[in-house]
Amino acid sequence: MDEFSKVVGEGFCIGCGNCKAVSPMKVDIKLNEMGLYKPKLNSSFNRKENESFIKVCPFSGGSKSEDEYSDELYNENLHYSNLLGRYNKVLVGGVSNKQKRIASSSGGLTTYLVEKLLANGMVDGVINVSPSTRNSDGFFEYTITDSLSGLNNTKKSRYHVVTYSNIIDVIMSFNGRLAFIGVPCFIKSIRLLSEENTILKEKIKYHIALFCGHQKSVAYSEYLASQICGINNIEKIDSIDFRVKDLDANADQYLIEVGLNNGERLSKRAKEIRWTDWGLGLFKPKACDYCDDVAGEVADVIFGDAWIKPYASDPLGTNIVITRNTEIENIFETGLLSGEIKFDEKGEAEVLQAQGGNFRHRKEGLLSRVEHKEKENMWYPKPRKSLYSNFKLNKSRHQLYLKREIITDASHSAFVAAKLAGDISVFYSRMDEHVNDYYKLNRSFKKEVKSFIKKMIGK
Ligand SMILES: Cc1cc2nc3c(=O)[nH]c(=O)nc-3n(C[C@H](O)[C@H](O)[C@H](O)COP(=O)(O)OP(=O)(O)OC[C@H]3O[C@@H](n4cnc5c(N)ncnc54)[C@H](O)[C@@H]3O)c2cc1C
Ligand code: SF4
Ligand code: SF4
Repeated sequence: MDEFSKVVGEGFCIGCGNCKAVSPMKVDIKLNEMGLYKPKLNSSFNRKENESFIKVCPFSGGSKSEDEYSDELYNENLHYSNLLGRYNKVLVGGVSNKQKRIASSSGGLTTYLVEKLLANGMVDGVINVSPSTRNSDGFFEYTITDSLSGLNNTKKSRYHVVTYSNIIDVIMSFNGRLAFIGVPCFIKSIRLLSEENTILKEKIKYHIALFCGHQKSVAYSEYLASQICGINNIEKIDSIDFRVKDLDANADQYLIEVGLNNGERLSKRAKEIRWTDWGLGLFKPKACDYCDDVAGEVADVIFGDAWIKPYASDPLGTNIVITRNTEIENIFETGLLSGEIKFDEKGEAEVLQAQGGNFRHRKEGLLSRVEHKEKENMWYPKPRKSLYSNFKLNKSRHQLYLKREIITDASHSAFVAAKLAGDISVFYSRMDEHVNDYYKLNRSFKKEVKSFIKKMIGK
């Protein structure tokens, strides 16, 4: 089997679009019925195309790893940690202007940075994600934003698969320098493609990442909407906002808002929507379970949520940021002096506290998934070597990690069946047993941890 068939056939594609860039006439990338991007080959790759594919596909198992990039990109004087990769600073904060902060998902520092890059003439455009009009490509799409006013429409986190395959030509013909925003695998993807394409390499000056627990299929948006406006109204949805802030509650008490094509806007608190616990991994692309880069190790900077005390209780939202680029650090320092932004300097411990579950699932959890694939003699994208030297399989959580993969897999087809039946209870009845088993495993793990801690402190 060739590498393309392994990655796509076994379901490990994340939809970046690099294979289409290798051979635009041979590859078509479209959403499948489960709301995941799936490339299709019209005729086989020739030997040269296959070699290029292996180099540019982040899940081929043959492309450059984050560790190899990190050695090339960063100064040895940066700090190193096996969770964060190389990094210079950890900051926790947000923009000072209340209205601007409300309009962003977290502290608003991602938009602040790209606004400054544009305003200072350091770039001429930003490749990021905007709402699309409802079409076969879902609710969001990659675009290039080249004005400060345009950046007002591109704020907010989109928990929704995207691909840059349809704007590669636009990027190539763009007149000027660009900043690219993406989840960590997309930062790696665009760097991989840039190595094969000097025009792209010259144009993209800054690589800006978002912390990523995992991505969600388009069906996730529809699932959320089904609990807000009913599964039979899904076709009427023309917008979704995953994070509307409630100014009277903690940052994690945000609402999800759906816009219908009759102008109505309906919302519900995320925590009141069934099974929005990200630990369950519903509607997750399979690739996400074989990716261990949580901290955007090959990005100049990465932005996430500071889910730590006292910041998490601020309804306006607060970012946690890891920097690896002095020009970007200078922008933040200048912003601090002018009062446009506020931040405190922190360290690795705070990142761990804010993203602990994510690191566990993606590092030791990956070792469980790999062991299982080996036992079953199945193909999977080989993780980077350092995963094996830095982390150990955790026997107590092994079954929990494997259960999550089963839940993810089942969720895609269960929702297709529910949509066909026009009845969300079809989804619940197919998923109930899996979800209950998961929570049983999770409870017994938590008990073990508690009794271990009691033993350790001699109580
Ligand atoms: C799929 C996904 C999973 C995430 N998981 C976590 C997590 O586990 N832990 C955590 O702390 N943070 C996570 N984040 C990041 C978090 O939700 C915020 O996006 C981040 O803190 C930046 O907030 P902000 O207020 O600075 O951004 P804003 O000022 O709101 O700007 C966000 C920018 O990101 C761009 N953008 C949004 N979605 C995407 C996307 N899918 N792909 C590329 N660009 C995009 C927007 O176009 C905009 O330019 C995730 C984000 C995404 C998209
Ligand atoms: S991950 Fe990217 S390069 Fe690999 S098959 Fe999917 S779209 Fe193509
Ligand atoms: S978890 Fe990894 S593979 Fe999945 S979207 Fe995030 S960065 Fe990409």
